[in-house]
Amino acid sequence: MVGGGDGADAGIDRVLWTEAEIAARVSEVAAELAADLRALREPAVVVGVATGAFLFLADLVRRVDAPLAVDLVRAESYGDGTESSGRPRITSDLKVDVAGKHVVVVEDIVDTGNTVSCLIAYLEKKGASSISVCTFLDKPARRTANFQLVGDGKFYRGFECPDSFVVGYGMDYAELYRNLPYVGVLKAEMYKKDTSN
Ligand code: 5GP
Ligand code: MG
Ligand code: MG
Repeated sequence: MVGGGDGADAGIDRVLWTEAEIAARVSEVAAELAADLRALREPAVVVGVATGAFLFLADLVRRVDAPLAVDLVRAESYGDGTESSGRPRITSDLKVDVAGKHVVVVEDIVDTGNTVSCLIAYLEKKGASSISVCTFLDKPARRTANFQLVGDGKFYRGFECPDSFVVGYGMDYAELYRNLPYVGVLKAEMYKKDTSN
């Protein structure tokens, strides 16, 4: 049973993707990405978006058999709620110089598309020659910002996500649930009770 005890899964309504399903799909995405990165003349820079993408990033890059650099940025738009503010900010900068490089942005989830649009603009300004987006989950039903990839950039995604607020496999609600090895839907009462005052 999910969500009935006092462990990490307390408050989970149902599981959308199990640990095994995630591992299988991440391997497929990694193989697709690796084939594209091997065709480049120089190593790509894989930029994970902290904190949500940390597990996907770790699982993905170790399955990508191609030369690459890894860096992190932090983008924040949510605070502790379940609705995006619509004005994401980059609150931690890159260490690697991306000028002239092929960049792959690794995200946990593309929802409205605001965060990824903001990151693409930021990386383009830093001179990235192409920008791809590799997201673990894609929620196309909620897209309001139609982001444009740069150069030969491609869009990779693990799963299409239904229009529910999901947690686990790196994704949080109020910084909790990131350590769940699967992705689940939170019981609505877990966050509705927080917005009543
Ligand atoms: P966007 O800017 O595309 O609306 O959303 C970007 C960020 O919001 C995602 O990278 C993710 O961190 C967060 N987000 C969007 N939908 C969900 C969700 O269902 N669950 C969680 N935990 N975070 C989400
Ligand atoms: Mg994110
Ligand atoms: Mg979050």
